[in-house]
Amino acid sequence: MFERHKAGNSPAGLAKVDAMETDPNDIANFRTLVEISDRNLLRATFDVPLVEIIAWDPESLQVVAINKTALNAHNWTLRQAMRFTLPQIISGLTTQRILRILSMIKRRKSRHARFRIGHLDKAGRLRMSQIVLQFHKFPKPTFIAFLQDITFYQEARTAAHEARSILATAIESLPDGFVLYDADDRLVLCNDRYKDIYPQSAEAMVLGAKFREILQFGLDRAEYAEAIGREEDWLRERLLVHEKAEQTVEQRLSSGQWLRIVERLTRDGGRVGLRIDITEHKENEAKLEQYASTDPPTGLMNRRGLAEKMATLARELKAGERIAVLHVDLDKFKSINDTQGHDAGDFVLQHVGQLLQTCAGHDSIVARVGGDEFIVLMKSRQSDALILDCGHRIMRQLAKPVTFRDQICNLSACIGVAFFDPTGRDAINIAMSGVDIALNEAKQVGRGQFRLFEQSMRDSTMRMIEMAQEIRLGIDAGRFEPYFQPQVNSLTGEIIGLEALIRWLHPTRGLVPAFEFLPAAERAGLMGALDEVVMDRSCAAIAEISTWGLGDICVSINMSMPQLRDRNILNRLQDHLDKYGITPDCLKIELLESTLLDERSDVIVENVHRLIQHGFLVELDDFGTGHAAIATLRKFAVSRIKIDRSLVQDINRDDELQVITGAIISLADRLGIKILAEGVETTLEEHTLQSLGCPCVQGYLHARPMPISLLKNWIIAQQQIKTGAVCLQTKASG
Ligand code: GH3
Ligand code: MG
Repeated sequence: MFERHKAGNSPAGLAKVDAMETDPNDIANFRTLVEISDRNLLRATFDVPLVEIIAWDPESLQVVAINKTALNAHNWTLRQAMRFTLPQIISGLTTQRILRILSMIKRRKSRHARFRIGHLDKAGRLRMSQIVLQFHKFPKPTFIAFLQDITFYQEARTAAHEARSILATAIESLPDGFVLYDADDRLVLCNDRYKDIYPQSAEAMVLGAKFREILQFGLDRAEYAEAIGREEDWLRERLLVHEKAEQTVEQRLSSGQWLRIVERLTRDGGRVGLRIDITEHKENEAKLEQYASTDPPTGLMNRRGLAEKMATLARELKAGERIAVLHVDLDKFKSINDTQGHDAGDFVLQHVGQLLQTCAGHDSIVARVGGDEFIVLMKSRQSDALILDCGHRIMRQLAKPVTFRDQICNLSACIGVAFFDPTGRDAINIAMSGVDIALNEAKQVGRGQFRLFEQSMRDSTMRMIEMAQEIRLGIDAGRFEPYFQPQVNSLTGEIIGLEALIRWLHPTRGLVPAFEFLPAAERAGLMGALDEVVMDRSCAAIAEISTWGLGDICVSINMSMPQLRDRNILNRLQDHLDKYGITPDCLKIELLESTLLDERSDVIVENVHRLIQHGFLVELDDFGTGHAAIATLRKFAVSRIKIDRSLVQDINRDDELQVITGAIISLADRLGIKILAEGVETTLEEHTLQSLGCPCVQGYLHARPMPISLLKNWIIAQQQIKTGAVCLQTKASG
């Protein structure tokens, strides 16, 4: 450079120097340039674009060489530039300061000087330049200045700084904990929230601390609820999740706080993480869960809660322990609702819930699993006998009347018990079905019954279920039909009616009597469907009989409880009558005495009244087997009583029966209610009944139930006998 300078001070010569590739943003290049100049390689770099290089004489301070970049930057010609002294060129620094700097360098106090200056450019914008000054002795003492515009770099640095501070503010103001670990898993950054979330670990959260160390610090101070008691396993699992940083996991702290942890890998192999507080969400979830598992009126668990509890208990059960399951169903609870109102019903349910909890003990579980059904779980080592004792205690306590708003509610319940063996397969379902079966067995017997599950009960239930399925198929295939049993006035021989009795024409077993399939049908809720068959076929029979020219005959049909509870029963009956063009007075509705006495359901009472008002004759079946209430007879305008077979059998030999039956007969007589005796099998029984004032009978003595196809011939034969008897009588009297 200086040779050229000497050769003619030619700026053109300077311009010929090869340019070096330089990135103006990279300040390091500038340093490289200085080093190059140090090693006398300045010549090769003199025309580096974007770096202004100016050389001047140390004595005169006159410019002796300048590169094109400097000329272009200031819009000078070489001639103009040569006229300037250094202080004129480097504006922004006082001449004294420059001279002082130059003197220091010249005196070798410093190898070079580096400083930055700001100045306004032609457009009035602030530009920043970095200047390096060097003194060279050879070949001739010369100062060289390297100037680089670092405005862009400075701006970029400011922008980066600002961005960093915005980011820091944003991270700090995040509602969530934020943390950054580097590729070595050392803490780079975390916000205050992060420290707040982990108060026990906060002390360990210093920059450079390893994630594992921070975790361990918290673990030692029981920060993590889920880790307590299994710290090592927990640490291993947590580190694994952190290492992969791809899962979102939940964490519960000992403070009760719930966190959602989101961790992801950064591009440089570090990990960025968020800790989101989900405590409220978890609490709401728990409330919903609690709500879904609770029975609102009693505050007890519901069926769902119970299932979960059973699963937990099963896991916790120790050797030798077992769980007794008690299924409690109140007797005739509906009648409390019906007669004393739903508030009373609700009160009773709450009362029963508390009572069960008290009787079973507070470590037992009580749940309400249906309308008036409760389950009690008792975890115990106690013997069967003690569990049964507890069941009986419950029944005794339940039997004590409860008062609700001055009304007394009398309660009783049936209880089924089964034991839950959690080691077996499908244990919960087996126990629950067992206890249901035991309860059902108890219910079949009556009120206030207690049954312990036995395998034989399951077997018979299975048979019932299979039979119910067969019954369903039989109904669809038309294999059920009523047989008709005549009712006769034993004095006159007159046929006074028929009772329709359902029979099953089984494809393999032949004719199956009602008592063999009705319990299964009842349990399976098929009574309504069977009643429907009887109604339809009986109406058809009445219509057919009227075409025989043998006189009209009424048919009695039995009406089951589900039918009687049906608010639509009247319409359904009417539809059958309309279908066959017959009137209601041809059909007698037989109700069980127990239905009217025991069931105080409003719907049943209402339906019975409506049937009577509509012209149907209502009669009481099996009279004498329940707890007859005379008032009930009057209340329902019953047209006929049917004395139960148990009061008829051997009546001729039993004085007591004669007294009871005689009383019933005279009572009915005085109330203007007709009477008929069922199950009459012998003439002796018939004669006794006649002598007591009950000539109307039904029973094998006169006829067994028969299909409609045989009925016509039987009636004809009966009428012939009657006529014969009348003829004989006439002849004898004549
Ligand atoms: P059974 O002797 O055969 O057990 O008959 P039940 O009258 O006790 O009646 P059942 O057990 O078949 O039915 C329970 C009834 O409980 C049905 C429904 O009317 C009534 N029920 C259901 N839930 C509630 C409730 O939350 N409050 C009240 N007050 N009654 C309810
Ligand atoms: Mg009940």
